[in-house]
Amino acid sequence: MAERHLRFVSASHDAIENAPLRGLLGHVTARFGERRAAAAGSVPDWEALRERARQIKAEALARLDHYAVEFERQVVARGGKVHWAATAEEARAQVQRIAAARGATKLVKSKSMVSEEVHLNDFITRAGVTPVETDLGEYIIQLAGEKPSHIIAPALHKSRGEVAKLFEEHLGLPYTDDVEQLTAAARQRLREEFCAAGLGVSGANFAVAETGTIVIVENEGNARLSTSVPRVHVALVGIEKIIPRATDLAVFLTLLPRNATGQPMSSYVSFITGPRRKDELDGPDEVHVVLVDNGRTKLLADAAAREALSCIRCGACLNVCPVYRTIGGHAYGPVYAGPIGALVSPYLDPQSSPPDLPFVSSLCGACASVCPVKIDIPSVLVHLRRKTMDGTLKVEPLPERRRWRAGMRLWAAAMSSSAGYRIAFGVLRRGLKSFTRDGRIAKLPGPFAGWTEVRDFPVPAPKTFRELWKEEKRGRR
Ligand code: SF4
Repeated sequence: MAERHLRFVSASHDAIENAPLRGLLGHVTARFGERRAAAAGSVPDWEALRERARQIKAEALARLDHYAVEFERQVVARGGKVHWAATAEEARAQVQRIAAARGATKLVKSKSMVSEEVHLNDFITRAGVTPVETDLGEYIIQLAGEKPSHIIAPALHKSRGEVAKLFEEHLGLPYTDDVEQLTAAARQRLREEFCAAGLGVSGANFAVAETGTIVIVENEGNARLSTSVPRVHVALVGIEKIIPRATDLAVFLTLLPRNATGQPMSSYVSFITGPRRKDELDGPDEVHVVLVDNGRTKLLADAAAREALSCIRCGACLNVCPVYRTIGGHAYGPVYAGPIGALVSPYLDPQSSPPDLPFVSSLCGACASVCPVKIDIPSVLVHLRRKTMDGTLKVEPLPERRRWRAGMRLWAAAMSSSAGYRIAFGVLRRGLKSFTRDGRIAKLPGPFAGWTEVRDFPVPAPKTFRELWKEEKRGRR
């Protein structure tokens, strides 16, 4: 049954009718977009940097086997341990094994999309370990029992009032929507959690093969505390995060903060290369890196889609996507939403991916135009559409849509010959004219009614392009 398809359709409709949510989405994504444009515009060689980033990622993916082994060698040489996880189950079981071996009953976690992808929190809670999110946005949605709705702004869908109510209910804070008081309350509670946790779990923005270094970019300082206060640090790292050299960071650390939040640089950039050394004051006694595959090698094997693994999770494609800006992140289903989610989710989370994902795009190209690593998102979407239709993309099949198919066949026939095109558009223009009242088309019938539900349909131009062209030619003679 088309269970996920139906859930997706229903969740999208709910989101469209949720006016406060649409207001938040419009406001926040527009602000991110403006900041990104200003920050990118201030770097003279921005386009050259994007091209260099694309090349580095392509190089890393082409030799991922080599760079992954080199990364492991360097981590081990600096006193860390590397664990390989082929699946989500293996990844979360690995974290649980490390926690059990150290007798940890609480872990603090900085923002990590991989940990969301493998559903670490639910699993580790059932195993008797309490996970505490320490990124403010993640902390808010953990209190609400929800999942992130945006890659870099997980609680984007929550209003200030909703956060105030959550803090009142869960932290016992008298109701206030004063942002400073709310963040101070979270900060105080989280400081206690950092000290009580036996394990710190993080993700990674980059993993440098040359040096075995984990690089984490953040604004709140919670990732630095999560990785240095508990005695044991576990980094959950998707294998696609590996880059060849430390010097490559000059490119990515210029692009990522500007493209994500419009900042020239994030407040904190942490470089973690093995556990604390004898002469160092801070840092964990143990560093474990769990290298997660979970569908990534399948995506890598698909030559026409593999560039999706270049993503550095800046979130910019979500902010400019007309679909994401209308329905938000939760409607998509899997943890990765928006244009990049439509590319990677069928591989990384096929169990919760609706078959609609490659189709929920107007292919306008806005996503590709802002992508800092130049992923050709529309082309990969078209490729995945083809795979969905021929059944080679392993997701729930789309329900049979006979009327849609018949319509597309008619459309194809009309578009394949000059005569068919002329006749079809002649009929269409006459049909549209019959619905024109007072110079506007405010209501279309039957299956076309959706076009006029919330706006007018454009009135056909008085003359077609062909008619104008003929007139032009006659005038020249
Ligand atoms: S696909 Fe590109 S724009 Fe979208 S999140 Fe990834 S890096 Fe950013």
